[in-house]
Amino acid sequence: MVRGTFQMMKSVNKSTILNKIRQSGPISRAEIAKVTGITPPTVSSIVKELMDEKLVVESNLGESQGGRKPTMLLLNRNEHYVVGVDAGSDSIKACVSDLVGNILVRSELPIKSHTIENFLAVLIQAIQLVIKDMGIEGNKVIGIGIAMHGVVDVATGTSLYSANSGLRNVHIKEVLEDTFDLQVRVENNSRAMALGEYWFGDYGTLKSFTVINIGRGVGSGMIESGKLRYGAQEIAGEIGHMTISLDGEKCSCGNQGCFETFVTGDAIVRRAKIKIPDAPEELTGEKVYEYALEGKKEYQKILEETGVLIGIGIVNLIHSLNPEKIVLGGGVMKSHKFLMPSIIATIQQRALTEKARKDNMITLTRVGDDATILGAAALLLTKLF
Ligand SMILES: [Zn+2]
Repeated sequence: MVRGTFQMMKSVNKSTILNKIRQSGPISRAEIAKVTGITPPTVSSIVKELMDEKLVVESNLGESQGGRKPTMLLLNRNEHYVVGVDAGSDSIKACVSDLVGNILVRSELPIKSHTIENFLAVLIQAIQLVIKDMGIEGNKVIGIGIAMHGVVDVATGTSLYSANSGLRNVHIKEVLEDTFDLQVRVENNSRAMALGEYWFGDYGTLKSFTVINIGRGVGSGMIESGKLRYGAQEIAGEIGHMTISLDGEKCSCGNQGCFETFVTGDAIVRRAKIKIPDAPEELTGEKVYEYALEGKKEYQKILEETGVLIGIGIVNLIHSLNPEKIVLGGGVMKSHKFLMPSIIATIQQRALTEKARKDNMITLTRVGDDATILGAAALLLTKLF
């Protein structure tokens, strides 16, 4: 495999045309010229380049409008692929996706010990498995995108710190580029999830978009005008560590009363055990949801209270960023049936203006469990498109 076999000279017009074909294909050259305002001769010459690069193919699905049927253009699904990886603290999931986000093969391997050596060995093995399963030639793979839990230095592709696994300074990009000779991009998992949701969730064009991931921790990814926000010290979106209560429980970050000490799966279990006298010792977040589904009122109440707490965190986010759309995902949101009504009621009670209270900017993930892994793959696609 040779790094950089896939290279594309990107221009604004080329990017506009490629994106138009991605979003609206099958589409004719004439229609592209009409909607983008690029002249027909320029469209034709750029489409020829895209076809030479095997990114675009012709199909004959055009509607005849009296004359000759126009030739329609589509993204080529069989020539270029990306590897996406969701590197969690318990397991590593890898996939190969085509250019439009169809997952073709998957692998998942458990992480049994939290050492850098073991983490990297499992990561490499998960990627090798999907590339081998696909039976694709290396030069058809554009690159590898990694969604890593914890704080990531995007420029160097280094995992700086993960509270959940205790790993520090893992040089993911460097090691994988040496191993696979492909370009590698590494991103924090909540930001990758936001990108996956935005890229594949069919939201159209939104100026500001936030995805909140509530699971073992709480993170968020923010997109402004199509681009991820990082902030000056690259910690924008760490809403799990907003202080909600000055004398609250101690958080993994060392502070007290952080948002995530109230709403993660573990937090829900802790609160259930305090409030429900006969709660079983081996209670889990999934069990709380199961009992609630079975109609056990005391467990439903725990989830409704959790919804209020999530709503309070979201109101803080609305008051600081006021995004057009807030998407909720992650393991805890599987209980959305019990959480969502109190999340929405809390926003309606607490948001500052009538308009903010009424406009429903909250929605559940549309991409679902694959948002993070597809977002990892999209780290490479954003470079291409
Ligand atoms: Zn914290």
